[in-house]
Parts: sequence; C-alpha cells; structure tokens
Amino acid sequence: MGVTAKLLALYRVDQQLRGLRSRLRQAEGYLKEQERLLAELSAKSDALAGQVRQLEATAHNDENEFKGLDAKIEKLRERMNTAKTSKEHGALLTEISTLKADRSQIEERALESMTKLDALRKQLAEFQAARTEREKVRVVARKERDEREVEIKDRVAELENERSAALAQVPKEAMKAYSDLMTLDPDNVMAAVEEQDRRSLEYTCGACYTHLPIEQVSVLLKKGDITKCPSCSVLLYMEQDLKDSIAASQEKKAASQEKKKGGGKAAVADK
Ligand SMILES: [Zn+2]
Repeated sequence: MGVTAKLLALYRVDQQLRGLRSRLRQAEGYLKEQERLLAELSAKSDALAGQVRQLEATAHNDENEFKGLDAKIEKLRERMNTAKTSKEHGALLTEISTLKADRSQIEERALESMTKLDALRKQLAEFQAARTEREKVRVVARKERDEREVEIKDRVAELENERSAALAQVPKEAMKAYSDLMTLDPDNVMAAVEEQDRRSLEYTCGACYTHLPIEQVSVLLKKGDITKCPSCSVLLYMEQDLKDSIAASQEKKAASQEKKKGGGKAAVADK
C-alpha cells in the first residue's frame, strides 16, 4: 500500500469522526449561547435590583422625615392652641407654614421616587421573568448536549481505535504534511483526482480544479507516493474505480497494438 492510500485510510476515519462530532459541536455552541444570554440577563437583573434597593432606602428616609415633620407640626398646633399672646400665636403659625412647605417639598420628591421605583420594579420583574425562561432553555440545551455525547460515544470509541490503527501505518513526514493541512482546514486535507479527458490526459484537482501535470497523475496511479496539488496543496489521491478503469483501458490499448503488430506480421508472411 502506497503512502497516499495509508493517508486516505486515516483521512476517511477523521472525516467520519468530524461528521459525528459536528452535531455535538452544534449542541455545545447552542448551550454556550444560552449561558452567555443568561449571564447577560443576570447582570442586568442584578444592576436593576441594586437601583431598586437604593431607591427603596431613599423612599424610606423620606417617609421618616415626613413623619418627623408631621409630629413637629402637630406639637406646634397644640402649642398654638394654648398660646397666650397673639404674637406667640403668629410666630407659631409662621413656623408651621415653613414646616408645611418643607413637607410638601419632601412629598413631591417622595412621589417622584415612588414613580421611578414602580418603573424599576416593573423592569426588574420583566428581566427576572426573562431569566427564568432562559434558564428553562438552558436546561433543554444541556440535556441535548449530553444526549448527543452519549449517542456518539460508542461509535467514536470504535473510530478512535480505527484511527490509531490507520495512524500507525502512516510514515512520519507524511503525517507532518497531513497534520499541517488538518490544522489549516480540516475539510480540505485530501482531494480526489478527477478525470476530465482520458485521451488527452486531462486530470484536475478535486478541490481547486487545477489541471495536474501528467507525472503527478502517473505517480498516484502507480506507486501512490505523497502528492500535493501544485495549486492548493491538498494531498491528492485517486479513487480505486478510476485506477481500475485506467488500467483496463491501458490493457485494451496494449492488446489492440499487439493485434495490429500481429496482423502486420501475418500480412508480411502472406507475401
Ligand atoms: Zn488543488
């Protein structure tokens, strides 16, 4: 078996492994995305919850201030009822109206914070609901990822064994070329030679469609040494069907030449 055939055996196992794992990779990607969205929602919820707490504290302070002012006003009123002079009465009245003005300022501020607080609480509830929903999606995504992992586990183990066996056959330098290409683009490591025209010996690279020098085609046909496409550098191989078919037509050609030669001799003998 030539190096190319050994590499091809490895490549076919690697492609199967990649195919099997692609669904798992998808499921993993989806799960990751859910986790990212969830983290985003959590961060927003936390920030909003912080704002709500702050505003609640402010509202609480306003309420205390409010109560304090009410108590003061009440006391002043009591004093006013027992005021002995109209001067004293007037002074208390002024004090009460100053406190009342303060009170209405605080009242206005408290109303504003309450409105703001309501809006924030509503927003927070929305984010929390969204987070709860997203958590459900994440549960499903995680389950799917786990299922896919289990689904392919046995086949992956089988293929890993096949891979080790195939790998053991590949010479070191060939493996280096293979690994380099694998790192670049795992879907474009090897490509089949495609026959365009047998009579005019036109063969192309199955990956980039570049015409291949006939010497390369001939190497693949015979020894199967490692052969790179001169244009895109993939490792070329030739399908067994094509090899067989070329061999058959070469035999046919040789036979008919033989026949022609034989016919010529017969003609000479006839004379
Ligand atoms: Zn190519």
